[in-house]
Amino acid sequence: MPSPAAGSDHVVDTLVIGAGQAGPATSYWLTRHGVEHQLLERRDALGGAWQDRWDTFYLNTPNFSFLLPGLTYNGPEPDAFLPRDEVIGLFRDYAARIAAPVLLGTEVTRVSAAHGGFPVNGGFAVDTNQGRWQARNVVLANGAFHVPRIPPAAATLPGHIRKLHSHDYRNPQQLPDGAVLVVGTGQSGGQITEDLLDAGREVHLSVSACPEAPRRYRGQDVFHWILQVNLHGPEYGINGLQTEQLPSPAARFTCNPLISGNGGGHSIRLRDLGRRGVRLHGRFEGTAKRELRDPRRASPRPGAVARRTASSGHWLQPNNALCVVRI
Ligand SMILES: Cc1cc2nc3c(=O)[nH]c(=O)nc-3n(C[C@H](O)[C@H](O)[C@H](O)COP(=O)(O)OP(=O)(O)OC[C@H]3O[C@@H](n4cnc5c(N)ncnc54)[C@H](O)[C@@H]3O)c2cc1C
Repeated sequence: MPSPAAGSDHVVDTLVIGAGQAGPATSYWLTRHGVEHQLLERRDALGGAWQDRWDTFYLNTPNFSFLLPGLTYNGPEPDAFLPRDEVIGLFRDYAARIAAPVLLGTEVTRVSAAHGGFPVNGGFAVDTNQGRWQARNVVLANGAFHVPRIPPAAATLPGHIRKLHSHDYRNPQQLPDGAVLVVGTGQSGGQITEDLLDAGREVHLSVSACPEAPRRYRGQDVFHWILQVNLHGPEYGINGLQTEQLPSPAARFTCNPLISGNGGGHSIRLRDLGRRGVRLHGRFEGTAKRELRDPRRASPRPGAVARRTASSGHWLQPNNALCVVRI
């Protein structure tokens, strides 16, 4: 529990900002080492970013790879994939089991040097919507996927097109009747495209450079092999892809391959989507004169707008929607 307040400030040795999965995992170790701490979570419920996923979301990572300090999967289906609500439930149970001290509905708005304010050695002043804290240490466990990144090209879309980022996508019923253009073929783009197809929607897909990959190899899930390479690769002279071995810091954000945990897990292949009726387009670069700009069909003049047939451009009709994912 936090120490008594200094003036009107709460005082604690270590503050952890965020109680998704990294926050409770940090709490596990702090408790094990007897460090007084407090987690602050801006949401009103535990479960972190998993609460932002769409209704039919399944983890991409198989159950056997579900590892938290003090908790590993030992259920009957190590090769299966968990649906969104079970993932949320698991993190809530975990936080309760390790008795993580969490204050919900508490958003940190500023962290600054306390300039001698903390009783021990300065530490940090942490402002929240529920008052101010002082702490010797602050752990940032606030996650990385909270602010949707909308490509500037989206601004060229006519106002009557409903635009939605994958962060806010929940199900096909959210979108008005009509065709949908999904922009980006990372995992979210591929999975949302399948979700829309399953609901009988007409889908156009703006393809990006994310790679395809086999879901299984020699009877094992791709994550089995990733784990093996990381654990044993260096012994065989194979790069285990540790952060410091990457060619550049930007390589950390390279697209994940197009796979899904839905339906027992499968690879998503653009050609298969095409066979199911998805209209595949080039990279989304915007619209002009109510048509889709497609660099692969553009005339040699730089910036020229590709002329598209009425059918390939007809998602720009009123009531249609754009679902921006990642490009
Ligand atoms: C579409 C998508 C699919 C994914 N699929 C998988 C998958 O299949 N398998 C897998 O292992 N990983 C997957 N990931 C990655 C996974 O979601 C993240 O690695 C994981 O959520 C990171 O946990 P975290 O605790 O660091 O962050 P989060 O879960 O984001 O938790 C951070 C918490 O901090 C809180 N917070 C943020 N700012 C503040 C603040 N100022 N004050 C107080 N609280 C704050 C947030 O509300 C949040 O609850 C996926 C990610 C995305 C985007």
